[in-house]
Amino acid sequence: MTEYKTIKDLGDLNGKVVMLRADLNVPMDENFNVTNTARIDRTVPTIKTLMKKGAKVVVISHFGRPEGKGDMKNSLSHIVKNLEKALGNKVTFVDDCIGEKVATAVKNMSADEVLLLENLRFYNEEKKGDEAFAKELVKPADVYVSDAFSTAHRAHASMVAAAQQLPAAMGLLMEEEVNALTTGLNNPVRPLIAIVGGSKVSTKLDLLNNLVKKVDKLVISGGMAHTFMKASGIDTINESNSLVQMDMLDTAKEIMATAKANNCEIILPQDVVVSKEFKPMAEHKTVDLGSIPAEGWSLLDVGAKTIASINAKLDECKTLVWNGPLGVFEMKPFDTATNAVAEHAAELTKAGKLTSVAGGGDTVSALENAGVADKFTYISTAGGAFLEWMEGKELPGVAVLKK
Ligand code: AMP
Repeated sequence: MTEYKTIKDLGDLNGKVVMLRADLNVPMDENFNVTNTARIDRTVPTIKTLMKKGAKVVVISHFGRPEGKGDMKNSLSHIVKNLEKALGNKVTFVDDCIGEKVATAVKNMSADEVLLLENLRFYNEEKKGDEAFAKELVKPADVYVSDAFSTAHRAHASMVAAAQQLPAAMGLLMEEEVNALTTGLNNPVRPLIAIVGGSKVSTKLDLLNNLVKKVDKLVISGGMAHTFMKASGIDTINESNSLVQMDMLDTAKEIMATAKANNCEIILPQDVVVSKEFKPMAEHKTVDLGSIPAEGWSLLDVGAKTIASINAKLDECKTLVWNGPLGVFEMKPFDTATNAVAEHAAELTKAGKLTSVAGGGDTVSALENAGVADKFTYISTAGGAFLEWMEGKELPGVAVLKK
């Protein structure tokens, strides 16, 4: 990656103190047990690499939404055991992230030990991007490394101002994320297809407006497709039963016009699954667009013809970016289309015919539900940062690491 500074650009790290900004904001149950260690596990290769180069690693992160200092519910001390287990090294916890205690602990560190500092958000200055706080934070360190791609859309002190104080670079996880997203959207092998699903057009306007200018084909599905279908003249979609944003009809038309001007083919549903009730296994049937019942049925998934047409479009493409489920994937059988298209994308990926990149909140659960989470080229767990990247926005926590 030539555009950004990576660990290789940091030179000799032997004996240097590296401050690693990670995202250790892991889910936890009421007894403070970590319920998913993915975020811890994924930053381990960076820590190991830095240690192998002889660096002393001090890990910093935010955690939860603390209401100020001393909010023990949101203390990073709860994850020490998990980090030790993932690393196979001793982890010493310091109950502050700045000040004398930290300086002393860093001085006393042994070569095979890692230091974990307390939650950055115990200080309000963190979220404010305060420079004086960032200077305090990096005081004991010689070098700064960031693996927190998932926080990179926020210009918080530890993400931007801290990186500006020291020689700085991205860790392996951040490098992997940025590489995958660059391959997916910025520098893709074409034809490039995007699938956008989910509930509402209004939450994905920036995303759609960016995608129609960049991708060759755009599949619009899920609840948000109803607004586009209504704007295209399918009048029987009833807004009291199904998701339709009546105030977004003109916006949908504008997006379709921009797509046309940019030679982006829009693929809308050709048939839909309508259901009597919004509950699992409710009475349902697949209907063509001309036969959508005007009353009493809700549109909860797209039908077999639509699945076949999306899969045929995937066959024509070399790169896929995906955000948002095609239907109400949380309830059977309305996960059918999401699963079928996900499986097809996974098969094409396995056959080396497609580079598949997906991400953003519900998309990860939808693809896990489809059993393909490890069969895509890359699935980003970064939520907001993934979406902002897809919207074409510059992420401050990534931009600060440019060469
Ligand atoms: P988003 O967070 O915008 O990506 O939306 C994800 C949500 O969209 C999921 O909870 C899905 O259940 C929901 N969704 C997808 N298709 C539909 C639909 N046809 N009707 C209602 N909700 C839907």
